[in-house]
Amino acid sequence: MSNKRDKLTRNILIDSLSEDHVRVIESLSKPRYDEDIAEELKIKATIVRTMLNDLHSASLVDYDRSKNKKTGWYTYVWNRRDDKVDEYIHNYLQAELVKLTSELENEKQGIKFSCRCAILPFENALESDFICNECGDQLLAHDNSEKIDELVGNISTLNSLLAQSPKKDE
Ligand SMILES: [Zn+2]
Repeated sequence: MSNKRDKLTRNILIDSLSEDHVRVIESLSKPRYDEDIAEELKIKATIVRTMLNDLHSASLVDYDRSKNKKTGWYTYVWNRRDDKVDEYIHNYLQAELVKLTSELENEKQGIKFSCRCAILPFENALESDFICNECGDQLLAHDNSEKIDELVGNISTLNSLLAQSPKKDE
């Protein structure tokens, strides 16, 4: 695993979960009790448990449960699922790609008009005589070529990340 890839993985996890979730994932280099994670990270155990549940819903961790015979309470030992982390990143990139591609399609659809509060397709601008219903400003032809360039650039970055992604489409 390259450092660049680790950094990307980290950023994506922070983006879609939170920095603290990532700290919890990182503390699971070996299986651990939630109380031990809480102590190490100096985060309340109840909060750590909530984060572990989030991570569990995302299939990024799982647990082994055992019953304490004296108290009757269950204790949980948490494990990180490295195989699922890769899959999670792959799915995240895939979803981003779909989102950006549809944004690009939308931007490419004909000329747009804009004022300070909105960007409208030609038909809507024509309907209102090129005056915005909201702010009363004139609607002017909107140059979205920069936006299109940006989207094309981001899509190509995503495609190359997906090409290096360890998990290919099944
Ligand atoms: Zn307006």
